[in-house]
Amino acid sequence: MTAATVPHLAARTGPDAVALAGQVARAVAGPAATHVDRESRFPSEAIAALREARLMSALVPIRFGGLGCSIVQVAEICDVLGQHCTNTAMVYAMHQIQVAVLARHAGNSPFFDRLMRDLVERQLLLASATSEVEVGGDVRRSICAVEQCGDEVQLRKQAPVISYGEHADAILVTARRHPDAAASDQVLVVAPTDVARTTLTRTSGWDALGLRGTCSSGYVLETRVPASHILADGYDDISAQTMLPVSHVLWSSLWLGLATDAVNRARAFVRDAARRKPGTMPPGAVRLAEVVGVLQTMRAGVTDAANAFDAIFDDRDALSSMGFALRMNGLKVQSATLAVQVVSQALSICGIAGYKTDTKYSVERHLRDAYSAGIQINNDRVLGASASMLLVHREDA
Ligand SMILES: Cc1cc2nc3c(=O)[nH]c(=O)nc-3n(C[C@H](O)[C@H](O)[C@H](O)COP(=O)(O)OP(=O)(O)OC[C@H]3O[C@@H](n4cnc5c(N)ncnc54)[C@H](O)[C@@H]3O)c2cc1C
Repeated sequence: MTAATVPHLAARTGPDAVALAGQVARAVAGPAATHVDRESRFPSEAIAALREARLMSALVPIRFGGLGCSIVQVAEICDVLGQHCTNTAMVYAMHQIQVAVLARHAGNSPFFDRLMRDLVERQLLLASATSEVEVGGDVRRSICAVEQCGDEVQLRKQAPVISYGEHADAILVTARRHPDAAASDQVLVVAPTDVARTTLTRTSGWDALGLRGTCSSGYVLETRVPASHILADGYDDISAQTMLPVSHVLWSSLWLGLATDAVNRARAFVRDAARRKPGTMPPGAVRLAEVVGVLQTMRAGVTDAANAFDAIFDDRDALSSMGFALRMNGLKVQSATLAVQVVSQALSICGIAGYKTDTKYSVERHLRDAYSAGIQINNDRVLGASASMLLVHREDA
């Protein structure tokens, strides 16, 4: 990225960050999106541009030198990235989820203070290993366990999927607190990816339907790190107060971006058809009106949930409430479902021009990417968790 393509190179404030992300999305991520998808490769140029713009530390508190952006601002960044390259947006979102977790749950220690400052100075990229072979997407259970070895701890995890694991500077890994701990008594460990500490042995590749640029291969992850690399808070609090709500808001925002771009392509298709036959209504116009309404509903839901999260962002009791968890679960399932619906409607408007890969109206990549939303933590799993809560939750919907 050069100053010619992106005039303000480094973000200094939240609004600055959102505007700059838009420029990176349009000038760098969008033009590379097709290649990233076809080649199933990491969106390296877009992530480099985001690093150059200092946007990897958007959620790092100002006291560590970060931008101190709100969750709403980072959601807006995911939305605009999603409009141009879903892979870039998902990598960015997954990284920010880890940043949010560190910012709230790491505790005060020299190691974590240094890590936060490094994150800002070196614009580190963080990945996550919460899923595990045998437990799948039930991320509130672990099989692997942390073992104490003097001042150090070690663990070995069979991870079915670690997105961009080979490009990350560190991976945040869930494991049981000790070998005798219950499956749900989990901690989160920071595993730096330098080979002296951590090895990743690839067990499966990532030739997937969509989100091909996330490079979400499977690995056996083995790490040995000082005990200070374990976050202070237990994973039960981390998951409820930060990991799940940040994931659901940022993922929903990027799926919204994806859906918005699909509708924009359908709009262009209908407008171009109207121009070719002045005075007549193109056949897709009514369908377009319909899908614009669905997109507006989706946007209202995502924005409303992001604002609601923002309003209680520092209130740990409110974040731990069942009502809030139900709301975030509802957001996830609703936006994952609407993303597929909106893109499918855009496809039926654009017809064969949308189905093909090489037209300006193509939404085939959008549709493939959209299908990941319902399985990136399976909608049925999320609904199952909500169903259990609803049995005991007393407040009306
Ligand atoms: C693009 C992408 C990137 C990802 N990146 C990462 C990453 O970086 N790190 C990471 O740790 N994970 C990652 N994941 C994994 C993700 O978060 C889920 O854990 C994973 O997709 C679940 O895999 P699964 O469908 O095999 O497992 P499960 O969720 O276990 O589901 C298996 C099957 O069982 C059914 N099922 C399971 N539970 C229930 C239930 N309670 N009720 C009803 N049916 C149920 C489902 O229909 C599903 O088909 C990624 C996933 C995707 C799609």
